[in-house]
Amino acid sequence: MDLPTKLTALGQVFHLYDQFAATLDVACKIDCADCCTANVTLTTLEGYRIIDHLISSGNLGIIQKIRAAPPRNRFHPQITTNRLAALCAEGRTPPDEGHAAWGPCPLLTSSQCPLYMVRPFGCRCFVSRRDCGEIGFAEMDDFVLTVNTVFLQTIEHMDARGCSGNFADILQVMASGANRRAYAHDTLNCSANRLIPNHPLKILIIPPQHRAKIAPILQALRRIKVPGGSSA
Ligand code: SF4
Ligand code: SF4
Repeated sequence: MDLPTKLTALGQVFHLYDQFAATLDVACKIDCADCCTANVTLTTLEGYRIIDHLISSGNLGIIQKIRAAPPRNRFHPQITTNRLAALCAEGRTPPDEGHAAWGPCPLLTSSQCPLYMVRPFGCRCFVSRRDCGEIGFAEMDDFVLTVNTVFLQTIEHMDARGCSGNFADILQVMASGANRRAYAHDTLNCSANRLIPNHPLKILIIPPQHRAKIAPILQALRRIKVPGGSSA
């Protein structure tokens, strides 16, 4: 499946999730940004879409701001969601992800996101029933967590030949024209760029009590021609 087709499918998946999120009763507001930390992770497909947007809007200078962020103060994932699902299905223990500081996202400006329309799924799916600033954490319904996991698995599957990593790392990698060309030809080397390889979806993480409720969302995802062979 070629890259333009993947990007179109990604836009459709985001739209589907935004429709779901619009049905939730949440405390999130446009200028609420406690959840905007340096620890957001994403796929190279999402990173490519963001860089595409920055190039077409003449805003690639934003990468300088990301480069200035200290690399040690952010989360570097060791394992992707689909790999985690596969390990759990095999009864194996996933690696310890460790802990990272919770500094603010390097892009956050006056509690506003300069990439809001093209923000990655890791930012889209962070919602809370109660104001995080008041209670100190996000409060999410178990079903929302299940839906979020299914979308994370689907997006990784769409980018199964790509990589995942921290937001700042992925954007710096994808800001390079040579890396974007390698990615478009499925030859981007994840480990050489300190990213982790994505995996195709083998098993969905859906608790039995959510299977009936999530069925319409799975059907809608299947109607999107998800690149990579099978669908969610
Ligand atoms: S998840 Fe929490 S911090 Fe983020 S917008 Fe919602 S209420 Fe605000
Ligand atoms: S990219 Fe935007 S939405 Fe995501 S954490 Fe940064 S400022 Fe927040």
